[in-house]
Amino acid sequence: MARVFLLTGGNAGDVKRTLQRAQQLINSRVGAVLHCSHRYESEPWGFAAAERFSNQALEVSTDLAPEEVLDAVQEIERELGRNRAAEAIEKASTGARYTSRPIDIDILFYDDAVIATERLTVPHPLLEERLFALLPLCEIARSKCHPVTGRTVGEMLENRKNEP
Ligand code: ATP
Ligand code: CA
Ligand code: CA
Repeated sequence: MARVFLLTGGNAGDVKRTLQRAQQLINSRVGAVLHCSHRYESEPWGFAAAERFSNQALEVSTDLAPEEVLDAVQEIERELGRNRAAEAIEKASTGARYTSRPIDIDILFYDDAVIATERLTVPHPLLEERLFALLPLCEIARSKCHPVTGRTVGEMLENRKNEP
C-alpha cells in the first residue's frame, strides 16, 4: 500500500463538477481518497487564457504501482473530456507550452519514491515553483518531506511565497 498525492486541475467547462467526478473516479480506480483540499483558484500559468484554473490536492492510498497510477489518471482525464490531440494542435498554432483543458491530473508524490523515466518524473519536477500546487498540497500535507531536498511542503510554500 502506498500513499500518493495527486493534483487535479482544470479551467474549461464545469470545472467544479469535473473535479468532483475526478475525485470519485480516483477513489474507485486508484484507491481510497484519504484527504482532499479545498479547490484553489489561480490565473493560468505559462500561457494566456480567459478562464482561471481550479486546483485540488488529494491524498490517496493505493495498491497500484506508479506507472499504473499514471495509466489510471490518464484514462480518467480522457473520460472526463481531455483531448490531447486537440491540445497538440492548439499548442502548435499558438506556440504555447500549455492550453486550456477540462482536467489535468498530476502525480506530486508517490510515497518517498524518486522516479525519472521517460513517462514519469516523481516528485513532480515543477512542484516547488508552483503556488497553485503548493497551496492545496500544504492544506493536507504540510509536514510531508520532499524525498530529494528534505524540505517540507510547508517550507517549500514559504520559500515560494518569499520569491519575487
Ligand atoms: P506539467 O507537467 O508541466 O504540469 P502538463 O500536466 O500540462 O504539464 P501533460 O500534457 O498533462 O502535461 O502530460 C505530459 C506527460 O507528462 C504525460 O504524458 C506523462 O507521461 C508525463 N509525466 C511525467 N511526470 C508526471 C507526473 N509526475 N504526473 C503526471 N504526468 C507526468
Ligand atoms: Ca500539470
Ligand atoms: Ca499532467
